[in-house]
Amino acid sequence: MADATEPPRPVDWRRLLVIALIVASAQATLLAALGRRWWCVCGQAFPYTNKPVGQHTSQHLLDPYSWSHFQHGLVLFPLIRWLAPRRSLGWVFAATLAIEAGWELLENSPWIIERYRNATAAVGYTGDTIVNSLADLACCALGFFVARRLGLAKTIALFAAIEVGTIAVYRDSLLLNVIMLLTPIDAIKQWQQAAWG
Ligand SMILES: [Zn+2]
Repeated sequence: MADATEPPRPVDWRRLLVIALIVASAQATLLAALGRRWWCVCGQAFPYTNKPVGQHTSQHLLDPYSWSHFQHGLVLFPLIRWLAPRRSLGWVFAATLAIEAGWELLENSPWIIERYRNATAAVGYTGDTIVNSLADLACCALGFFVARRLGLAKTIALFAAIEVGTIAVYRDSLLLNVIMLLTPIDAIKQWQQAAWG
């Protein structure tokens, strides 16, 4: 039995990598089965787009929404750690990635894509490419390890800072996204459309 005086076990990075590869493979396979493309139709290799809405958004490696997936990791690590305090780091990591991959599949389901197009200002949204979706998973994993490193208070501060920063720069954020998906607010939609065109 473990007791309070036992030093924490060193992180088994190889085990975490295997978990990540298993989840990423399953996610890519299911997205391909849903008919998602691997990369943007434009065919250009640039890895990042700065626009919250546009033909390249969610189609290349990174975009403004990469921040929200990083934030998923910031939320999921302390939340799952709190719900399952006795589980190993590998278990918490696997649970986090499974939830994120599940969200990615839901996000690319016809139902959510329609909802984004109708209820929010993301009129041209047609779902993520597989590469973009896998990068979202990687951002979540990064957020997970940052949250583990920072501890709860600093993680909450970082989460808040990203909310403020992404709203200021892109007029969108994780919390705004959740609000607009659940209960669309017309004033926010118009404010976003004014900048997004
Ligand atoms: Zn493109």
